[in-house]
Amino acid sequence: MDVIRIEDLEVFAYHGVMESERITGQKFLVTIEMFLSLYEAGGSDNLDKTLNYAKVCEEVKEFMLSHKYYLIETVAQKLSEKLLIEYKDRLQRVRLTVKKPQAPVPASFKSCEVTVDRAWHRVFIGAGSNMGDRQQNLRDGIAAFEKNEAVIMGDISDIIETKPYGYTQQDDFYNLVFEIKTILPVRELLKLCKDTEKAQKREETIRWGPRTLDLDILFYDDEVIEQKDLVVPHCDMKNRDFVLRPLMQIAPHFIHPIYRMSVSEMYAALCAGSK
Ligand code: ADP
Ligand code: MG
Repeated sequence: MDVIRIEDLEVFAYHGVMESERITGQKFLVTIEMFLSLYEAGGSDNLDKTLNYAKVCEEVKEFMLSHKYYLIETVAQKLSEKLLIEYKDRLQRVRLTVKKPQAPVPASFKSCEVTVDRAWHRVFIGAGSNMGDRQQNLRDGIAAFEKNEAVIMGDISDIIETKPYGYTQQDDFYNLVFEIKTILPVRELLKLCKDTEKAQKREETIRWGPRTLDLDILFYDDEVIEQKDLVVPHCDMKNRDFVLRPLMQIAPHFIHPIYRMSVSEMYAALCAGSK
């Protein structure tokens, strides 16, 4: 991926844990690497097709002066999030280094610095409801993602009606799948799913039991996560018609990172097996 790099932008600001740093201020050096395609800009020689680095410098300076954080970790994180959100139409990833060459520490060093690396991730979420106004529950769930500034909405599948899976003594489900881009780390995304379920008055019942809203992370880029309370890609999807059928509609070519099969291959295998 192409990159625009601004190296050691000098900013005088007031971040630090010590009171003196917050009152007197000090020099910070910020290196910003912005990953995006420069092909169109390079071909057209048009400033509108790239990122105006003069403007980015101004924005970084303004941000550093209008906030006061204890940690340069926070400065780096908030700044990279701000840039990713502001330029979400073209920026894929930001690597940002904040240096404190004059950190008030009784030791000799060239500078003390942190680097963060943040990006937009491609994610698919599965949603289901079999209690109350099922369509409205799904709509409200999607709205919670739409209004989150760390999320860019992508395609949404049609709603399908499905028979309950696992525990079958319950009403039929409405299911859909939607795609998002997000700068949320996967754990934060899981929290957003759970908070959104709770806001729909979902109550903990039996496993696979009735629910107003269920939100599952199906894929998070091609990451494989196997932890006690978080498994990605979502477990057992290759056996679930209510996941694969809507996924087929919006992402038939997406490759499952463990099985190395596309969604359409998994769906074909499921259909063949159920005949
Ligand atoms: P299911 O979605 O399998 O019907 P639940 O919605 O009741 O079951 O999920 C219970 C737990 O599953 C959640 O509390 C969550 O921590 C965990 N979990 C594991 N992996 C995922 C994932 N990929 N997406 C959402 N929840 C997950
Ligand atoms: Mg769930």
